[in-house]
Amino acid sequence: MSGEKIYLSSPHMSDEGYEMNFIKEAFESNWIAPLGRNVNEFERELANMVGIKSAAALSTGTAAIHMALKAAGVSEGDIVFCQSLTFSATANPIIYEKAVPVFIDSDYETWNMSPSALQKAFEKYGKLGKKPKAVIVVHLYGLSANMDKISEICNKYDVTLIEDAAESLGTLYKGRYTGTIGDYGVFSFNGNKIITTSGGGMLISDNEESINKVKFWATQSRDPARHYQHSELGFNYRMSNVLAGIGRGQLMILNQRIEKKRYIFEYYKKMLKDMEGIHMMPVNNWSKSNCWLSCILLRGKVKPLDIILALEKNNIESRPIWKPMHMQPFYSGYDFVGAGVSEIIFEDGVCLPSDTKMTDEDLNRTVSIIKGLWI
Ligand SMILES: *Cc1c(COP(=O)(O)O)cnc(C)c1O
Repeated sequence: MSGEKIYLSSPHMSDEGYEMNFIKEAFESNWIAPLGRNVNEFERELANMVGIKSAAALSTGTAAIHMALKAAGVSEGDIVFCQSLTFSATANPIIYEKAVPVFIDSDYETWNMSPSALQKAFEKYGKLGKKPKAVIVVHLYGLSANMDKISEICNKYDVTLIEDAAESLGTLYKGRYTGTIGDYGVFSFNGNKIITTSGGGMLISDNEESINKVKFWATQSRDPARHYQHSELGFNYRMSNVLAGIGRGQLMILNQRIEKKRYIFEYYKKMLKDMEGIHMMPVNNWSKSNCWLSCILLRGKVKPLDIILALEKNNIESRPIWKPMHMQPFYSGYDFVGAGVSEIIFEDGVCLPSDTKMTDEDLNRTVSIIKGLWI
């Protein structure tokens, strides 16, 4: 081991202590218990920032996806078309509702859902007289999916579109924030995300009525009555007022974090450009990516595992690309539509350390180790 540990992406509180001020406020007013001013304000502030009507702060991003599926009316036996190249949390809530995922391939242009694979899936299931209840598209690593094409297909078939923007808070697609383009958008504030509440999520939509319904489900579905009365199944999914305080503070410095993530991406791009076989992830000119993680594909003699192991030896964290859901043992029984692009991205890809605490020296150390593999 040599040098201090460099993380892939770790929590990074503001230098100004904004988060602690909001937490203190919660302590001083004794609003420790779930809900309270920080939750309401966090929802309002985030909704204002991205330009959407309403938001529900929830315990996790996974819970937000679950609630989005419920809001879309997904229930037992329904089909949901879901991007295959993603983290399992995108797909698991489909199973919570006993619905049936059909996994959709990615394309090289975006690494996200391939519009042509999506179209094929609609045609394939259409021939069987079936239509999905919802489509879940992901904006992986802060890269935006091809939203014009995907929205167009979903509109044509009149199907609810859910954007898993857990990794892409602050990413713009043609001037609009990812998460605000489909019917529902999901953000995560897990510890490794671009901003964090230690754990948390948010569901956003212009459909206020739906978001209110989600808030109802997420607070145990308590009917308006003096006694505890329930006419629907409830969930305990709301974000606590203390954690929402962390979120409010983090939101104040989101732009700083995005700038640093972009700086890290540009640094790698510049320093690795002469290494034969390295391709940076596709940041398209239609998009302004938050560059949550800087990822590369390796198409030469140096393989992903070579880089991961060399960095690991030097106390530096890196990671393979998400393993597609249709390759996961748990999901092996479900259908997949596509040409195997996500499999190749998984096999050839590496996520390089993208921690906003990294100094130029840390970046230089990382790049030197990578370049050393070409000598
Ligand atoms: C992190 C993440 C989630 C889940 O968010 P949690 O807050 O950890 O539940 C969902 N989808 C993707 C793509 C993620 O990266």
